[in-house]
Amino acid sequence: MDCIFCKISNGEIPCYKIYEDESIIAFLDVNPKCNGHTLVVPKEHFQDVYEIPEVALLYLETIGKKIAKDLMEKLSVTGITFMMNYGTSQEVKHIHLHILPNFDKKQTIEDVEKIYKKIME
Ligand code: AMP
Repeated sequence: MDCIFCKISNGEIPCYKIYEDESIIAFLDVNPKCNGHTLVVPKEHFQDVYEIPEVALLYLETIGKKIAKDLMEKLSVTGITFMMNYGTSQEVKHIHLHILPNFDKKQTIEDVEKIYKKIME
């Protein structure tokens, strides 16, 4: 299947991976809306929130919550926006949860690699 997130999940395409287990991978968005913008993705291909089984959706959210907590500590973040697009709002048709850190002070968006190093330190 010609799906970019399937290719990232199976290692065909590189990513700034911050978490992986048997069924989930999480990596930094290459075009971040804020520093630490992360995508949490089930490895199995489900198109969207209406296609994914409830159990898999719950697990995606559970891992998303854990990753968000970790980002809050590592990047001194005070708030998080959890976001999931659907339909014409969804660019990549492989379900993913966006984790968008919110900062107290307005920040310039830094290079993804720099943020990645900060998270992985
Ligand atoms: P959505 O509109 O919810 O489908 O968002 C898709 C997101 O995937 C966008 O924020 C893109 O910047 C991001 N994206 C697309 N390709 C890649 C990639 N190869 N690695 C990391 N993020 C990506």
